[in-house]
Amino acid sequence: MKRVLFFLFLVMVMLLVVAPVGAQEAITVTTSQFTCNFRKELLFELDAQSQVPITRVELVVEFASTGSFRGAAKFEEGTRVHATYTWNLEQKYLPPGVAGQFWWEITDQAGSRKTSAKQPFRVEDNRFKWQTLSEPRFALHWYGGGASFGKAIFERAVSAMDALQKDTGVTVERQLQIFLYDKRADFLSALEPVVNDWVGGRAYTDHGITLIHVGANDLSFGLVATPHELTHLIIHRKLGDIGTAGFPRWLDEGLAMYYEFVPPQLEPEYETILKRAIQNDTLLPLRTLSGNFATDARQATLSYAQSFSVVDFIYRRYGKDKMAQMLLEFKQGNAFDDVFRRVLGVDTDGLEVAWRQDIGAKPRAIPTRAALAPTAFPTFSLSTDLTAPTPRREATAAVTPIARAMTPAPVPTAAPRAAANPLTQVCGGGLMALWGVVGVALYRRWRGARG
Ligand SMILES: [Zn+2]
Repeated sequence: MKRVLFFLFLVMVMLLVVAPVGAQEAITVTTSQFTCNFRKELLFELDAQSQVPITRVELVVEFASTGSFRGAAKFEEGTRVHATYTWNLEQKYLPPGVAGQFWWEITDQAGSRKTSAKQPFRVEDNRFKWQTLSEPRFALHWYGGGASFGKAIFERAVSAMDALQKDTGVTVERQLQIFLYDKRADFLSALEPVVNDWVGGRAYTDHGITLIHVGANDLSFGLVATPHELTHLIIHRKLGDIGTAGFPRWLDEGLAMYYEFVPPQLEPEYETILKRAIQNDTLLPLRTLSGNFATDARQATLSYAQSFSVVDFIYRRYGKDKMAQMLLEFKQGNAFDDVFRRVLGVDTDGLEVAWRQDIGAKPRAIPTRAALAPTAFPTFSLSTDLTAPTPRREATAAVTPIARAMTPAPVPTAAPRAAANPLTQVCGGGLMALWGVVGVALYRRWRGARG
């Protein structure tokens, strides 16, 4: 009994000795919070105290997607401090849906350091009352239409992603976010300030987020635009930071169009223009479609129609496994022709010959150009259109302290004119590939242009 009592006494003494040490931790955090005022700023606030003046407070932000940021907070030195870090979204834009965690690193005059507990944060466009439907691969957010509007688009996107995954084997590691903006003004005011007003859809592949302008009264557009953009997002995330060789635009857009409908189908407008081009022998050379598409409405529509047709042909002729192999090859940054030769056994010209034969088009004389440039074709930043030169788009990479961000490409001069034409369908998906960030999308498809 004595021994038991002695043991208890010992334990009590130890507790008395240990407890004050724990309580006397030099720096303590009283409150730490995050407020989002979209699209103005993100506000991080901390209240902390210490026995001696706190001399340094740093905010650390870690994005769920990629990258992190560290910045010095503003505060007045003292034993009790209120520190703030204001993240100006006008200068360092982040789209809605960006999430991650943050914490503080606090130092006092005595050299004591304290790292606060990690807390989650999420950038929300809290100007609207969002409805959400989600599954592991993606979440769809909308506020314009009713529940049935969102459900219809969500279900179409689910079946498209099932098909894409089954065909190409691409998986989604982290849930992608799609935001549908009902009003054009709402949409534009959600983007970074420098975006051109003809943009209709914008994707941030680094963060796995897409914003699309889909009016509540334009369900038919939402039904195709959503799986289309999701496909771009998944493919580009799969490809990652595409190497110098890039990714052929026709393959990018062809895949996005292929998964707009399950089973795949080319809409009558595109079908008609494709058939006419076959009959009149006015198909665009496949190499031309490796770079930016023409901004001319008819040529652009034909470009999309051909892209769909070639992807469909690859699937039918070579099998679905080959697409998965090609994506892997592109991910390694291999040149277009090398990828096609290795996986399909033909280069771009050989593929074009086989495709033209398959759809009943006349054989096309391959221009000498092919011999001059056997490999690396320019990436999306350059127009490679032989027949209808497009304005040269060059994107400037502006590296912000956070995850890489990009200022959009300069306005192509022809864009507003093209956008006014209801037949123009130019999606910026291909441009997404530039430096891994995303997309400028001139995105007035005939359906969307009505609004
Ligand atoms: Zn597209």
